[in-house]
Amino acid sequence: MLLFVATLWSWSAEAAEMKVTLLGTGTPTPRLSSFSASTLIEAGEERLIFDLGRGSTIRLFQRKIPLGSITAHFITHLHSDHVVGLPDMWLTGWLGTPYGSRKTPMVIFGPTGTVAMTENLTKAFSEDIRIRIDDEGYPPAGIAFAATDIGPGVVYERNGVKVTAIEVNHGEKIKPALGYVVEFDGKKVVLSGDTKPDARVEKAAEGADLLIHEVAVIDPKLLKDYPNYRAIEDHHTAPEEAGKIFAQARPKLAVYSHIVFATVKPVQDVPEDALVARTRTTYQGPLVVGRDLMSFVISDKVEAFAPDGGPLKPTLGPDGELGTAVKH
Ligand SMILES: [Zn+2]
Ligand SMILES: [Zn+2]
Repeated sequence: MLLFVATLWSWSAEAAEMKVTLLGTGTPTPRLSSFSASTLIEAGEERLIFDLGRGSTIRLFQRKIPLGSITAHFITHLHSDHVVGLPDMWLTGWLGTPYGSRKTPMVIFGPTGTVAMTENLTKAFSEDIRIRIDDEGYPPAGIAFAATDIGPGVVYERNGVKVTAIEVNHGEKIKPALGYVVEFDGKKVVLSGDTKPDARVEKAAEGADLLIHEVAVIDPKLLKDYPNYRAIEDHHTAPEEAGKIFAQARPKLAVYSHIVFATVKPVQDVPEDALVARTRTTYQGPLVVGRDLMSFVISDKVEAFAPDGGPLKPTLGPDGELGTAVKH
């Protein structure tokens, strides 16, 4: 009997891991190496996706995860770089293929406007839907949406996984904008969504295993020809500001994703040093600059893996202790 209990516990502990995979670490910039915002969180029987940026279907296919196997989708806000992959996930996930095969409605939560978007997409793709039902015989239920407009608060609780939406500050005109807290078996992952520095993110991330935060580096020279970058800069978090949040919240690991990196001469790959050096002025703890298909396994510790699956060592500041701010 004791043996049985011990076995059960060890099985439970293993099953209680959370796995986070960065499907897209970028922005609207059409970089080959960093698709736009999307993060996969696997916990127990749940497979959740946060934002559906460009190419999230491609990254899932690279990981051999069927698009139709996602149990629920969550949107932070309706900027295009967070939803441009939605029609692809919805339509391609329905196809009767090993990588698709969704037979039940696509479950999606997002801020006000999400339900309207799903209704409008259904109209926009009505001919494709009609043809495929008639010709290929796919189930109509699989191309339906189960969409809900949400505000802050607990929005999803299933199979021991709890998802809480928090309001964040992405600027006066971009409302509502949400971040998410995902909890499972005493573990916690926080996604900032797109935001300026926000105390609500910092508070939510206290004691978190993983804080995935956005960041923006914009070359001031760009502002001369593209004054719109001033507004963009004002909607995001600078590395020094993100560092202050990490230092206060002290997550086990801080990760940058949704990396705005704007320079006069466009670069294909974002240089990690440019982000790390500025963050180190305010934060000495463990930090990873996210790349597409990096993953993080959370058990009683947090392990990071490179896109090729090899172990990945987070950077640590010179006076670095876990989550300790620089003393001034
Ligand atoms: Zn945005
Ligand atoms: Zn964005």
